[in-house]
Amino acid sequence: MKTFASHADLEIKKVSFDKLSDHAYAYTAEGDPNTGIVVGDDAVMVIDTQATPVMAQDVIRRIREVTDKPIKYVLLSHYHAVRVLGASAYQPEHIIASQDTYDLIVERGEQDKASEIGRFPRLFQNVESVPPGMTWPTITFTGKMTLWFGKLEVQILQLGRGHTKGDTVVWLPQDKVLFSGDLVEFDATPYAGDAYFQDWPQTLDNIAALQPEKLVPGRGPALRTPDEVSAGLAGTKAFVSELYASVKAGAGAGRDLKAVYRETYERLAPKYGQWVIFAHCMPFDVTRAYDEATGYPDPRIWTAERDLAMWQALERD
Ligand SMILES: [Zn+2]
Repeated sequence: MKTFASHADLEIKKVSFDKLSDHAYAYTAEGDPNTGIVVGDDAVMVIDTQATPVMAQDVIRRIREVTDKPIKYVLLSHYHAVRVLGASAYQPEHIIASQDTYDLIVERGEQDKASEIGRFPRLFQNVESVPPGMTWPTITFTGKMTLWFGKLEVQILQLGRGHTKGDTVVWLPQDKVLFSGDLVEFDATPYAGDAYFQDWPQTLDNIAALQPEKLVPGRGPALRTPDEVSAGLAGTKAFVSELYASVKAGAGAGRDLKAVYRETYERLAPKYGQWVIFAHCMPFDVTRAYDEATGYPDPRIWTAERDLAMWQALERD
């Protein structure tokens, strides 16, 4: 049986901190979860926090190499613990999230926290530094909100569902830089255990319609040219579409989840198997796709116990 989730993934990744424009920076780490930074005239915004406050200290150290402006805002692109639990380190005035993300934290935040810590031991360095309880947004919005950092316009947008119900992107129209959260990945496998497969491709088209010239994905290197942005959007769309088509066909033919999982894995591995966390994501992604194709409009809640039971059911020979 394959090692559960990311338990075999122990290699420390190298961090890059790249300037994309006068106001935008990307903190990336070879496929580990990224953090975006917006530096305005009078404030800094951090987009996704890293998994623990101790890990967030390294982001703060990099920010302080380029600006001494206050970190006033943390923006949560979605509710996943690996994006959220470092928030306290920044001591922000406000934590911003969509109302849909807020609702997911209420509904399933505690279960998600236990589930994700169980899946990714390496990604929760110094997990004891995470405060008890949930990271609660202090500002929520629906659809669109605009902040002005002096003369810098910062648009906070819900462009549709995809990776989760609450997906939020940050768009700097003057600089044409977009921070996508996990809606877009590059050289990294999209996690789709909480996804809306039938909506995700259209949401990617909505991102493309903004014509971003640079894009910070949820995982993988910053995309620095329009061609790289197009490649990131196309790769994510192809993976999501091909996975769902395979699962829908198998479910429609009456095959059970395990059979559909095996055939979908074999079908996708030649094209996507080199992307980081492929083996980790596939059981979760196929399980959710099978649900969506068989009449569960909303993702079922993952718990630490459900994670293990699913893994054993699908990966045992
Ligand atoms: Zn996520």
